[in-house]
Amino acid sequence: MTSVALDRSSNSTRWRNWGRNQSVVPQTIARPSSVAEVQEIVRRAARSGQTVKAVGAGHSFTDIAVAPGVQLQLDGLAGLTAVDRATGEASFGGGTRLYEISALLDGYGLAMPNLGDIDRQSISGAISTGTHGSGARLGGIATQVAAMTLVIGDGSLLRVSERENSELLPAVALGLGALGIIVEVTLRCVPSFVLQADERSASLDELLETIGERAALADHLDAYWFPHTSAALVKTNMRLPAGSAPEPLHPVRRFVDDELMSNQVFRAVCALGHVAPGLVPQINRLSNAAVAKRTYSDWSHRVFVASRTVRFVEQEYSVPAEALPEVVRHIRAFIVRRDLQISFPVELRFAAADDLMLSTAHGRLSGYVAVHRYFRDDHREYFAGVEDICRAVGGRPHWGKLHTQTAESLRWLYPRFDDFVGVRNALDPERTFTNPYLDRVLGA
Ligand SMILES: Cc1cc2nc3c(=O)[nH]c(=O)nc-3n(C[C@H](O)[C@H](O)[C@H](O)COP(=O)(O)OP(=O)(O)OC[C@H]3O[C@@H](n4cnc5c(N)ncnc54)[C@H](O)[C@@H]3O)c2cc1C
Repeated sequence: MTSVALDRSSNSTRWRNWGRNQSVVPQTIARPSSVAEVQEIVRRAARSGQTVKAVGAGHSFTDIAVAPGVQLQLDGLAGLTAVDRATGEASFGGGTRLYEISALLDGYGLAMPNLGDIDRQSISGAISTGTHGSGARLGGIATQVAAMTLVIGDGSLLRVSERENSELLPAVALGLGALGIIVEVTLRCVPSFVLQADERSASLDELLETIGERAALADHLDAYWFPHTSAALVKTNMRLPAGSAPEPLHPVRRFVDDELMSNQVFRAVCALGHVAPGLVPQINRLSNAAVAKRTYSDWSHRVFVASRTVRFVEQEYSVPAEALPEVVRHIRAFIVRRDLQISFPVELRFAAADDLMLSTAHGRLSGYVAVHRYFRDDHREYFAGVEDICRAVGGRPHWGKLHTQTAESLRWLYPRFDDFVGVRNALDPERTFTNPYLDRVLGA
């Protein structure tokens, strides 16, 4: 293990998140390489009244991963620890990244049933914030958790599974990093599968009229509306039967669409929009016109995941699925009313209802609406307006994406909020794992 006490005035040890909107100089950075070392760090910190926070890939936009005390980097606890081909259950060290999981599962003919837009996150970070992809019949990544081992507030190990301490699973599978340090996660995986991808443009009005039916028919539906235009890009992914051979995009086409246009040209477009916001509507119309229809098939993780190198900040709300079209219409009117110039598309997705205590899809089929701004642009007016619109229909904010809610307002959105706080009181009574974000959203 390496453990370094830091000079807090030093900028060289300053940790920054991916969106460059959160940063901290932790008192200590520790890189344990065994579970016993994690236990020792937690015990020592608890004795001295320090807080401990694990950080994953730093891809959250909120300050949820900010560690002012001991920052734990768990890359030394990564990799496959067990796999059972018969049940499809596979276990990974808590620091394993999602792209490593896809590669490791591949060797056993297994895959994760659903993924979000990218795969740079750690598995623990992804489940702890409720990271999700799209699919009205599928839950977020935390719903794939079959078991977990955590180091809790007194430094002891807690095993939670369908057989041991099962009543805790709905809390720890999506625990905001508040319940302990996750050292191992077991996921329910599925046999590797090929996805048929269909990407085409649609009129926004027509999309909003039909989005519920489209989502019900598709395995995964992901839509992007370009503000200042009347058009959207609709991505519909369907699972192909076992044994189907993939017919992937030509590598040159893939590079041009997914790297050149989506990252390099888009970066230039965002930089231009930043200095000349008046050009944004025109740029969006051009971007939308450049969207070409494409169909292809590929192994699931290659279809789900994109490379995102243009930095942005994001807010995302889950709303009851049936409210999604109205929410988007209100956002469109708000952008016009305030004369905002928004270069990033608004993303729409779905998730099935689940029973995790703090899942944004708890107890309801959910529609997701995500808004983004280039990291150099001021996001405040746009995000505040969208937040008001979503809150009016009982919207729940993504735990890793910007929002202004507090324990007082969140308690009414989650029927099991107080049960979660009860689990926190039992597993971390001294608040060893807290930080200012958790104090805000869960109470001190
Ligand atoms: C470009 C980009 C694309 C994204 N796409 C999506 C998407 O498609 N869908 C979606 O829902 N979200 C998406 N997100 C949000 C992202 O998935 C979440 O914020 C996720 O939490 C990031 O994982 P991470 O490993 O970076 O975790 P971090 O941000 O580092 O940490 C998140 C939380 O997990 C806790 N944590 C990390 N490791 C442990 C551990 N071992 N034990 C206990 N707690 C731990 C941290 O303490 C913190 O509370 C995206 C973000 C970016 C920047």
